[in-house]
Amino acid sequence: MADRSPKPSSRSLWRRYLDFPLIYKLAIALVAGAVVGLAVGEPATALQPLGEVFLRLLQMLVMPLVVVTLIAGVSSIDPVRLGGIGLKVLVFYLATSAVAITVGLLAALAVAPGTGLQAPGRTEQSPEQAPPVAQTLVEIVPENPFAALAEGNVLAVMFAAIAAGIALAFMRASSDERIAGLGALLRRGVDAGVELVFVIVRGVLQYAPVGVFALIAVVLAETGVDALVPLAKLTGVVYGGVAVQIGVYAAVLVLFRVGVRRFFAAAREPMVTAFATRSSSGTLPVSTRAARRMGVDEGVYGFTLPLGATVNMDGTAIYVGAATVFVANVAGVELTVGQLLMVVLVGVLASIGTAGVPGAGLIMLSLAVTQAGLPFGPVALVAGIDAILDMVRTMCNVTGDLTGTRVIARTERGMVHESGEDGTGPGAGAAAVPAGAQRAEGAEPPGEDAGSGG
Ligand code: ASP
Repeated sequence: MADRSPKPSSRSLWRRYLDFPLIYKLAIALVAGAVVGLAVGEPATALQPLGEVFLRLLQMLVMPLVVVTLIAGVSSIDPVRLGGIGLKVLVFYLATSAVAITVGLLAALAVAPGTGLQAPGRTEQSPEQAPPVAQTLVEIVPENPFAALAEGNVLAVMFAAIAAGIALAFMRASSDERIAGLGALLRRGVDAGVELVFVIVRGVLQYAPVGVFALIAVVLAETGVDALVPLAKLTGVVYGGVAVQIGVYAAVLVLFRVGVRRFFAAAREPMVTAFATRSSSGTLPVSTRAARRMGVDEGVYGFTLPLGATVNMDGTAIYVGAATVFVANVAGVELTVGQLLMVVLVGVLASIGTAGVPGAGLIMLSLAVTQAGLPFGPVALVAGIDAILDMVRTMCNVTGDLTGTRVIARTERGMVHESGEDGTGPGAGAAAVPAGAQRAEGAEPPGEDAGSGG
């Protein structure tokens, strides 16, 4: 690798780019993208392809990542324990979502965004239909796992991968030598697959600054400041609500004696990626990498992160709560307690069946508005600035998934390792840590419990 570049000068420039910490590159890209988008306006939308390539590079990795990390993770832990982890994380996700939607509702009720605004004339947009909960649950079992893979159906793929992981664990434990040997072989292959995906993730992240720059520039060029001004209060409520929610995560981390500073040092890359891509599913490769760097075992993150990307959307819950109040205010309707409870219920339930893709929250808002029996017109106002709100709520969604993952790992014996991978160092590609295999069971990072830097 060292001898491959022909010209020393160009090599050193590339080397310097590689050595510059990723988070700074991302921060610069974020600010530069915002400046370019606002200053240049419409023509900046020409950058769209550069951003789309980044999104596609990430999405390209999502399904392979879910399959290999889940099989590797599940096959290394006992199914009973997996059930326990699953139950804990579901409770955690539901509880934080309920807190989030309450934060959104309360903040909006206090600030009253939308009062005095006019809904745009009669909009013929038809309200969205909720996927029936029972159907969502039934479809978690795939008829054809390969079709589920091809369609990008995360929950169905998770189901098949968990089944494969459990079967693999049984094979490895088999008293038949031939089956046990095949199981061991397969497991090594899966471990190799995990490393392969992460080496690609590292490569993709070198392109991330370009992608982030382009995506932010395009959103700001398309939305413009003019659209934001009348909706400044709603934007403030959503951004403020997310800030409160992130404070809640920090408090939960402290409560579970996890080092807050170390957590956010690893979480900031997925946070910026989520902000720019507006997709928690797309951010999965980056958040999974962050969980590894926190030292979380794949037996936990392989399960909790893909699940979270699909069912846990705290930022979206804040947005649904706040925007419903906004809609009611624009329409001049006083929300009853019954309607508010309906919004909470729809906010939490709808998030389960909706994938973490850009704009998914707008669909959930439509559902909540329809369920609460509010007029649909004002939703069109929100739609105009949805991308701006989507950025911050997706960032919150991903932070919530990572908080759940880190906290659950903390409560499980041997699920946090000191050898958290750090792919940014020199020669990182070659020195990857073999997933799970060589890690000491039960090794908790020493600094962690002391609330290092809390
Ligand atoms: N874009 C969000 C996500 O991917 C969902 C939403 O639109 O709120 O998590």
